[in-house]
Amino acid sequence: MSSKRVLIVGGVAGGASCAARLRRLDEQAEIVVFEKGPYPSFANCGLPYYIGDAISDEAKLLVATPELFRNRFNIEVRTEQEVLGINRGERKIEVKDLRKGSVYQEPYDALVLSPGAVPARPPLPGVDLAGVFTLRTIPDSRAIRAWIQESQPRNAAVVGGGFIGLEMAENLARRGMKVTIVEMLDQVIPPLDREMAEYVYVHLLDKHVSVRLADAVERFNGSEGRVTSVETRSGARIQADVVILSVGVKPESQLAKDAGLELGPQGGIRVDESMRTSDPCIWAVGDAVEVTDAITGELCIVPLAGPANRQGRIAADAICGRPARFRGVQATAVCGVFGLTVAMTGVSEKRLQQAKDADYEAVYLHPNDHASYYPGASEMHLKLIFRRSDGVVLGAQGVGGQGVERRIDVISFAIQKGSTVFDLEEAELCYAPQFGMAKDPVNLAGMVAANVLRGDVKLAKWDELPNGGAFLVDVREEKEFDRGSIDGAINIPLDQLRQRLSELPKDRPIWVNCARGQRSYYAVRILQQHGFDASNLSGGYSTWEVWYPEGLPSAEVTQAEQTSQDRAA
Ligand code: FAD
Repeated sequence: MSSKRVLIVGGVAGGASCAARLRRLDEQAEIVVFEKGPYPSFANCGLPYYIGDAISDEAKLLVATPELFRNRFNIEVRTEQEVLGINRGERKIEVKDLRKGSVYQEPYDALVLSPGAVPARPPLPGVDLAGVFTLRTIPDSRAIRAWIQESQPRNAAVVGGGFIGLEMAENLARRGMKVTIVEMLDQVIPPLDREMAEYVYVHLLDKHVSVRLADAVERFNGSEGRVTSVETRSGARIQADVVILSVGVKPESQLAKDAGLELGPQGGIRVDESMRTSDPCIWAVGDAVEVTDAITGELCIVPLAGPANRQGRIAADAICGRPARFRGVQATAVCGVFGLTVAMTGVSEKRLQQAKDADYEAVYLHPNDHASYYPGASEMHLKLIFRRSDGVVLGAQGVGGQGVERRIDVISFAIQKGSTVFDLEEAELCYAPQFGMAKDPVNLAGMVAANVLRGDVKLAKWDELPNGGAFLVDVREEKEFDRGSIDGAINIPLDQLRQRLSELPKDRPIWVNCARGQRSYYAVRILQQHGFDASNLSGGYSTWEVWYPEGLPSAEVTQAEQTSQDRAA
């Protein structure tokens, strides 16, 4: 293997992982990493917890130091060195030493760009007031900690209800602040389907976090240069002596753009399957690149640590002449919010609807994470999305306590391997009562979905409920029904169903629900075999509560309008 000089821009997730892999593959290569910040390889994902003091020792965030890179990997890491430009013709980069202010050039045989993404900072009035922060680096988190220490804020506003926003909400609450989240959409965690996000919304309210949905910040007010409140489009004024902006990130692709490298439709760096850019000597990885969505085939930007690390390895393999192919992303992600686990993989139902793809079905289930007879079992809410024509699994979302992420990970891998719901039925997963169930939630999800595809049960569509027309039957016990029921449903407990068939119409569709979807499945099987046109409201009353938290909207008001009005109120 010939010795080559590989330069890497950005020394954190993608850059550091690429550098280390390169060394393992090529002992002779000269590898230099340029990092404009003070630290390479730090744990960005741990920053919210450092602010919340769950991690109190800053040094714990430093995964690898320049010394470790030098001693263990013979890799030179230059911190506080900003790469300003790329001269592709001469294969040189221009670097500014941020400590000395001097500018110098470095030649390369191969160049890897892993500059990440910058948090968006909307140009709203007052956004530059002291106390308005974004979070990306250790110095950012240090500044937020210092602000908390010095000004002892009592009220915090978090702008944006995505992963980082919710993690920050939890951590600011942990520091004793009253937290308000302002989110422009009508739900938190935008990648989730709205009804699944409802569980998170309710949980946040339970934890005394205020959440303003379908509202947007319009300005930040201050006094003596320091933020004091946030004003929203709906006219609300929220007291805030600290504000965290977490409204998404933009790929850092300016360097690539200036060098004439091809960018994708969303402004990320365009790469091929081996992470090579439009220049054969330059690779790019991580948050700065556009990659293919493994399910829809669309180009997308998925700013997550897992893909960045994998891409770093793939770029290293490709540079060393090994066959290397990035399979695309599924946006498999997990987030903890005040003890609730929220995880997802693959495509959501709303994305399929946006793409006008009608060849899918979605089922809901609410299994326990482990055998209910073993202490400590907790319910999780799962949604499985799969292709109607062939059963291929397209996506899954889970919200609950322990064990949610394990199920989503299994389904994520199933998706990666092109598996079907019939494969999920048959998946062999480990079991003991304290860890799972002999029919694991993953198996159950596969079974519920496979029942639909085999024609054993028809699904009623939750979004068609307001249109009326169906005869609604709730097969829970009377006591359960009395505690709350779907608007317009009548109650016939499952065990009385065979005796009360005469109460049901044969000339109308019958939609059946129970608490979680299992008894209603049994009921549908009975009704179908007695000649009724019966369908199951998947997930039962538990799913109803998140689909229609305010009950069915009136005929004149659409569901989206209703939700926006209710949430903004
Ligand atoms: P980064 O890790 O951001 O590294 C890019 C580096 O390049 C930066 O240090 C930057 O200073 C440097 N750089 C940029 N331009 C230049 C230049 N011109 N010259 C020199 N250096 C330059 N992902 C998850 O999967 N799970 C999580 O729980 C999670 N939590 C997160 C929490 C926070 C607060 C943040 C900010 C991110 C989180 N992420 C999480 C996202 C994850 O950290 C990123 O997807 C990942 O770090 C991207 O890797 P990267 O190498 O592309 O960019």
